[in-house]
Amino acid sequence: MSPIGIFGGTFDPIHYGHLRTAFELLRLRQIHFMPAGNPPHRDQTIASTADRVAMVKAAVAGQPEFVLDDRETRREGPSYSIDTMRELRAEMPNQSLCLIVGMDAFLGLPTWHQWRELLNLIHLVVAHRPGWRAPTMGPLGELLVDRGTGRIDDLHEAPSGRIYIHAVTQLEISSTELRKLIVSGRDPRYLMPDAVRDIIKSTGYYARKG
Ligand code: ATP
Repeated sequence: MSPIGIFGGTFDPIHYGHLRTAFELLRLRQIHFMPAGNPPHRDQTIASTADRVAMVKAAVAGQPEFVLDDRETRREGPSYSIDTMRELRAEMPNQSLCLIVGMDAFLGLPTWHQWRELLNLIHLVVAHRPGWRAPTMGPLGELLVDRGTGRIDDLHEAPSGRIYIHAVTQLEISSTELRKLIVSGRDPRYLMPDAVRDIIKSTGYYARKG
């Protein structure tokens, strides 16, 4: 059973930190990039939802295992991961599904709506990110003792329930830093695909106004 990966994010904008992480996870059969619609714990995005989707679409073009799934952006109201995972599980009852999150996002897991239910639906694949350490205490430390695994095969053998921490090439790129770089008039070249940079140039997103 080859797992399918689900990589959610605001992607405001998508960058090589996201793409390289996903690429290094290609023992999973496919990776679905899922831009968040109206993120419940985040501020408003800068780029419009349609343009965040357009940037993800441009970024994944040419890599057949990368798929854009924009279902959350088409939903009214806040989009909770748990609802999306329930929907995916209903569509693929026996498929191994892996929700991919960076370590920073994993540390915020206890703030997610109905987070304890998630592992009944999916596995979690946690990508190391520069500056963030795996928790050893608290509810997430306990969860890791209970559900953590170092065997990627565990993700192939069951449809849900495990947490796999994945060492990926550490690229210290974040959307926040990219937005700062662009507003200060610098060029994001080589930090993101050219097609994404072209969309940012033509829309004027993140640049200083006036
Ligand atoms: P922001 O700086 O606006 O918070 P971000 O760069 O973290 O944005 P998101 O769209 O919020 O990007 O992230 C989507 C997912 O990708 C999250 O799970 C996040 O942890 C992960 N991620 C983002 N950048 C990296 C990176 N450089 N390496 C590994 N994972 C990353």
